[in-house]
Amino acid sequence: MANKNATYSYLVSILLVFIITFLGEFIKRSIEPANLVMFYLLAVMIVAIRWGQGPAIVASFLSVLAFDFFLVPPYLTFNVSDVQYVFTFIVFLAVGLVVSTLASKAREQIIRSQTEKLQAALLNSISHDLRTPLAAITGALSAMLDNSHAMDEASREELLETAFEEAERLNRLVGNLLDMTKLEAGALKISKAPCELRDLLGASFEQLKEKIKLRRLITNISADLPEITADFSLMIKVFYNLLDNALKYSPPDTTIYIKAAALDNKIKIEIKDEGMGVPYEDISRIFNKFYRVERPQKITGTGLGLSICKGIIEAHGGEITAMNNEDRGLTFVITIPIN
Ligand code: ADP
Repeated sequence: MANKNATYSYLVSILLVFIITFLGEFIKRSIEPANLVMFYLLAVMIVAIRWGQGPAIVASFLSVLAFDFFLVPPYLTFNVSDVQYVFTFIVFLAVGLVVSTLASKAREQIIRSQTEKLQAALLNSISHDLRTPLAAITGALSAMLDNSHAMDEASREELLETAFEEAERLNRLVGNLLDMTKLEAGALKISKAPCELRDLLGASFEQLKEKIKLRRLITNISADLPEITADFSLMIKVFYNLLDNALKYSPPDTTIYIKAAALDNKIKIEIKDEGMGVPYEDISRIFNKFYRVERPQKITGTGLGLSICKGIIEAHGGEITAMNNEDRGLTFVITIPIN
């Protein structure tokens, strides 16, 4: 991918020089050739800012050659009639190189500060997500300690429940962070074995049972669905995250649909909700790490779940996509090769 990009940036740089030379052909008799140099320098600068130093240096050299060959009399030869053009070339080349170095430094600087800003924002969001449940747990436990004698059974139960829920949230967050780190480091171990989709879904429902029991859930799994070869515990995480999202991002009185069928050597699984969906411009980004859609409703999350799902599905040679439904809500479509 990086190589392809590099080739592309060199090709575009060459094309830019070509275009300027082509345009120069039309105006070379009505404008001092030395002034045409400005256009080339502009191109070198654009190339440097956009693609960095390598393509910019190529553009500089090529510009000098093209300028000399096509736009400085005598035309179509590298000879020059007027010696002063030699100085123009030398200065041109020097300025081109300096401009390309400066512009590409500026570019690196911009990229670096963007990365730093992003990292700071991520750190902020993670530490907030870590601190919130910790504060809730500490709060609940200390209330119990302080009032251990005077507290009735119901209040104690309520505090314990809060502490438990928050501890679970923390556990999931840390789990997701670990999974993400492992995925990125290529250290997530995948041990595949044949398994039934029904069992996978069953295990995911089990982990979400408190939330899911309040919801209407309709599953439609084709009777002749073959087994898939997959890592059972990783796949559970995928369904857990998708179902958890469907529950989080749709109102309680709506239905969640799960459909699965075999289709040309693949299993296609759809998870559909009747919730708020995702704005069109965000839909391609929701699988990015830490990406969350800005919403007026306060729905907690870290933006890690979907990127982990994607990592796991791709590690199985499959694909995961999301699309808004025609009426309302979102559908996730997963395809996994049967073997
Ligand atoms: P989190 O839910 O922790 O924010 P995810 O990576 O699971 O992170 O999801 C990324 C974003 O995608 C969410 O912030 C949410 O805006 C959007 N999203 C995910 N699932 C759904 C869904 N079922 N309906 C609407 N939006 C969703």
